[in-house]
Amino acid sequence: MNQLSLSRVVGAIATGLRAAHRSAMPPMRMRPFGPTRHPVPVVGQGTWHAEEGDRATVIAALRRGLDLGLTHIDTAEMYGSGAAERIVGEAIVGRRDEVFLVSKVLPNHASRRGTLTACEESLQRLRTDRLDCYLLHWRGAHPLEDTFDAFETLMRTGKILSWGVSNFDVVDLDEVEALAGEGHPACNQVLYHLEERAIEHEVLPWCARRNAAVVAYTPFGVAPRLYDGRSKASRVLSEVARACGATPRQVALAFLLRHPNTFVIPKAATVAHVEENAGAASLELGADDLARLDAAFPLGKPGPLPML
Ligand code: NAP
Repeated sequence: MNQLSLSRVVGAIATGLRAAHRSAMPPMRMRPFGPTRHPVPVVGQGTWHAEEGDRATVIAALRRGLDLGLTHIDTAEMYGSGAAERIVGEAIVGRRDEVFLVSKVLPNHASRRGTLTACEESLQRLRTDRLDCYLLHWRGAHPLEDTFDAFETLMRTGKILSWGVSNFDVVDLDEVEALAGEGHPACNQVLYHLEERAIEHEVLPWCARRNAAVVAYTPFGVAPRLYDGRSKASRVLSEVARACGATPRQVALAFLLRHPNTFVIPKAATVAHVEENAGAASLELGADDLARLDAAFPLGKPGPLPML
């Protein structure tokens, strides 16, 4: 057997083993990703600060996530100044076709030319020839039409398969629609967790009406106290979790996934965390549980879009 045939056999065995392993888990819940209609798992994987963990452990966690169907990987040129993209690039070697890969251009790079260059650099760090979705990380000084022009050029050349935005409030979204027309943006990636539900007032309904995916970032929130069972709200979360046979973090993610167009991208640096987070995909909360959580973590008043 020559070397090429041998590597194909080894590849086929590895794929078979992964498939066998996956078949022992509940199938990952998928949704069409906004206007792209591409089926994307409701639970994905974030990578902000990924470079701060032990590299091999982080890569093993990302790959375990892929085994479990957490194939939506979110990264950005900003994260670790490209270091997170390099880690993702290493984690997806040999598995690119399984992944729905998303990266983001920084606002200060988002001129016509700057966006093209930033994308090329991200592709190199990610060791791939294409992104499934490319986002403007947040709105900056460059005119949106310049950034979107560059996105369209990248679409024509096959370097990105769709584009979206992040941290866009409704007035910005209206501008996107006016400039780019129907079917844009593919998604809006926004801050959304139990203690920060501001998007439910306007952003989420806007995206639902226009069929744009809503990707919840920092889905566990910014306060670890949420999971310590000490406050009243935290105790409600723990009780709901116990009643569902789930963990509080799985319930926190499932609450965000109750809308038909949302996705979550928790970041996890260990296999144990990834496995726990994957479990949220098969958890559907009942009306009573949702009502208890809604009361314990109230919506709050409308206001400008919060971001980190
Ligand atoms: P997050 O995913 O809500 O929380 C990450 C933290 O939760 C990490 O400390 C992680 O620890 C811990 N964790 C994960 N799973 C856990 C589990 N099962 N049990 C206990 N702890 C667990 O916060 P995030 O990283 O800010 O947000 C997620 C992703 O959204 C980012 O990584 C990034 O890709 C994206 N994001 C986008 C923007 C934007 O402006 N577009 C802003 C922020 C974030 P370990 O690392 O030790 O596992």
